[in-house]
Amino acid sequence: MGMKVRVDKDTCTACELCYDRVPEVFKDVGDGIADVVQVDIEDGDEKWMNIPDNLTDEVQEVADECPSGSIIVEED
Ligand code: SF4
Repeated sequence: MGMKVRVDKDTCTACELCYDRVPEVFKDVGDGIADVVQVDIEDGDEKWMNIPDNLTDEVQEVADECPSGSIIVEED
């Protein structure tokens, strides 16, 4: 089963960790606030990106390390 990821921009503290580490998935959308580089699934206000299989571990790591817990990873 694939995994998907989204960013809660309201709680992101612009620490730069996620897009420094995984620029294939995260980007700076202004003032250092992060979001996913591509929207594959829209669910109301939630914009999810499907995580490429080869990046799943790295995305999970930055989600664990995000200081504000703003990166949400779920099974797709
Ligand atoms: S790691 Fe978390 S706090 Fe830091 S830029 Fe990414 S989403 Fe924001």
